[in-house]
Amino acid sequence: MDAASDPFWDALEDGRFSLPSCRDCGEPFFPPAPVCPRCHARDVEWIESDAEGTLYAVTRQHRTAPGIPSPLVLGVVELDEGPRLLARVQAEYGDLEIGTRLRLEPCEYEGPVDRGRLSDRPFFEARPVE
Ligand SMILES: [Zn+2]
Repeated sequence: MDAASDPFWDALEDGRFSLPSCRDCGEPFFPPAPVCPRCHARDVEWIESDAEGTLYAVTRQHRTAPGIPSPLVLGVVELDEGPRLLARVQAEYGDLEIGTRLRLEPCEYEGPVDRGRLSDRPFFEARPVE
């Protein structure tokens, strides 16, 4: 995570979820980058996301790295704006199915990875939409 992702972390700290979006091809994308991964344009803006989407894929890990809770439910969330991203899902694996509506929310990072300059920043996780 470098300076290109700062607007994402700034928004998350305010409880908002924002995405980089290409002004040339109009496609939002994730993870943040200074160049559009689709058309390679450098004209990137930030848009507000409603942070909601659907479960695209899910797995439950029974053996996790040291410091990571087990079992761990990980999902690929397809945001309504299009980008897919990986997130811990705060739900029982058996309560999820492909297409389950999820919302991304800021949370505290509790893992063992040294996040460097992001160590004081919130992280995010997904929860089913009630
Ligand atoms: Zn583009």
